[in-house]
Amino acid sequence: HADGTLASTHPLPEFADVAPETVRKCIVTVLPPPVTDFIVPYIDIVHNRAAIEIQRGCTRGCRFCQAGMIFRPVRERPLDEVLAAVERIMESTGFEEISFLSLSSSDYSYIGELVEEVTARYGDKKLSIGLPSLRIESFSVDLMDRLEQGRRRSGFTFAPEAATDRLRDVINKPIATNLMLQTAHEVYSRGWTTIKMYFMIGHPTQTLEDVEAIARLAHEVLHIGRSYVGRKAKVRVGVSTLVPKPQTPFQWVPMEDEETLRAQQEHLRRRLRAQGIQLSLNDPRESLMEAFLSRGDRRLAAVVERAWRLGAQFDAWGDRFNWQAWQQAFVDTGLDMDWYARRERAVTETLPWDHLSVGVKKEFLIAEYQHSLQGAVVDDCRDHCFSCGIITQFRDQRREAQQVLGGDGSWGCPAFGRDAERQPVSPVPVPLYFNDEMSPDRQGQFAERVPQRRHRLISAEKVLER
Ligand code: SF4
Repeated sequence: HADGTLASTHPLPEFADVAPETVRKCIVTVLPPPVTDFIVPYIDIVHNRAAIEIQRGCTRGCRFCQAGMIFRPVRERPLDEVLAAVERIMESTGFEEISFLSLSSSDYSYIGELVEEVTARYGDKKLSIGLPSLRIESFSVDLMDRLEQGRRRSGFTFAPEAATDRLRDVINKPIATNLMLQTAHEVYSRGWTTIKMYFMIGHPTQTLEDVEAIARLAHEVLHIGRSYVGRKAKVRVGVSTLVPKPQTPFQWVPMEDEETLRAQQEHLRRRLRAQGIQLSLNDPRESLMEAFLSRGDRRLAAVVERAWRLGAQFDAWGDRFNWQAWQQAFVDTGLDMDWYARRERAVTETLPWDHLSVGVKKEFLIAEYQHSLQGAVVDDCRDHCFSCGIITQFRDQRREAQQVLGGDGSWGCPAFGRDAERQPVSPVPVPLYFNDEMSPDRQGQFAERVPQRRHRLISAEKVLER
């Protein structure tokens, strides 16, 4: 179109016979065996540990998270396989640290048993276990408590991503502030001295009040820490910028403008200048670069080439970040970085990645985008499948997983078959509740805030009624 947006995406006429209209991602039905025989480095390296992927995919549905959308469906590795891999890694490599990888470790169905077994088998050996991406809840503190029994406890990480209940409803990560503070009590009372908290600024509908809440929360957590461990209490606050990503409900959202981001960062710098609090922020220009590259189209190839010719290389390294080269490359190619990064896109616009399918329907993403603007929270889809598209696109593989692994085949999506436990399936996510500040007149399934992941509370009839 004359305004630079795309009219359509389709194969060129000369490839019409061979190229599909839409290219769909491929998935593995069952996770391949974990790598256990590594080349062991003889120098200290970054990530000097072995890693075992315990689960792929996530069902929580955080609206900013690209991994949560593109790595669907959830596939879990059987417990025996994880334990056998730990054994083999210990024998073959001598690593003293193993990290269990997943997008949300607390959601791995056998996490309790896994921690139990690992502690029983290796508790007296010098093996330390990493469990990244834990939910902010007491259960996570219990898990880490067991894993780190008798060891030096350094940092405990939380990733609330936003500091007010309202904004966490917008991003569909509804952990109530009071539960977070309760978890902080548990962490410090059990001997940890540092809590790391990760936030983002630039979420849709965010105000300065939401930014100020980051500072308030950090001070509150520090105060809790001091009541248990005195001056040793530390809070590390990492604040990054939301970069809206393709294939997520935020793919239509404009990135926040630089002036606002800088003002918000300055506010945080001022408010978090306190002993015991350490703040880290990122350069808004680096986020802008990530933003135009994330949602660019093929015209950006010319920009990338031009920037490289002008000397841009390894820009992710702070000392090699060559902003002038990128600015010049946009000027030389007649394109505008803000048009790519900071323009609100209509949901009807043809997007440059519309011909790439990750299995999740665009209607699902649109519904979730609208829900975000209404402050509507939807449930974890392991408890309530919303038919986001995955189960229909990968129906045969879903069946095959049941045959290969037996039972429900370790997928998070509902199993098929007469004996399988059925879950309600509705064509669009049904909000659990609407944030009262944002949508006082709307009614979700519940009149008040309820946590996600309540085991099968929603009946199929209720969903159909709606
Ligand atoms: S098909 Fe259902 S259970 Fe599977 S990822 Fe989509 S919404 Fe979740």
